[in-house]
Amino acid sequence: MDCIFCKITSGVIPTNFVAESEHAVAFKDISPRQPVHILVVPRKHFSDIAELTDSDDNLLLELMKLARKVAAENTDGSFRLSFNTGSSAGQTVFHVHAHVTAKGAKA
Ligand code: AMP
Ligand code: ZN
Repeated sequence: MDCIFCKITSGVIPTNFVAESEHAVAFKDISPRQPVHILVVPRKHFSDIAELTDSDDNLLLELMKLARKVAAENTDGSFRLSFNTGSSAGQTVFHVHAHVTAKGAKA
């Protein structure tokens, strides 16, 4: 499968991770739409948050905990956590990822 986020999470495309856990990684969005814009991505491929939620409770929890850590370490505490799901909702990469976005970076 030709999935850009599988290539990033597996290290085929070298990427600087801002945080990682056993089954998930976080890296800066290549085209940030807020002063802080970080993606939180499971290493295993699921196409979207619906598929992940239906499949793996532990991984879902781990993803949320990593997103929470990313927000704590990179934002002023006020942030948005979002999952675009489906192309008409704006999803462009079909490997599930959370966007952590914030106007204020951690001081
Ligand atoms: P979405 O539109 O919700 O599927 O989000 C996909 C996000 O991935 C967009 O915000 C893109 O800017 C970002 N993106 C695409 N390719 C890369 C990449 N190679 N490295 C980092 N972010 C990327
Ligand atoms: Zn993938």
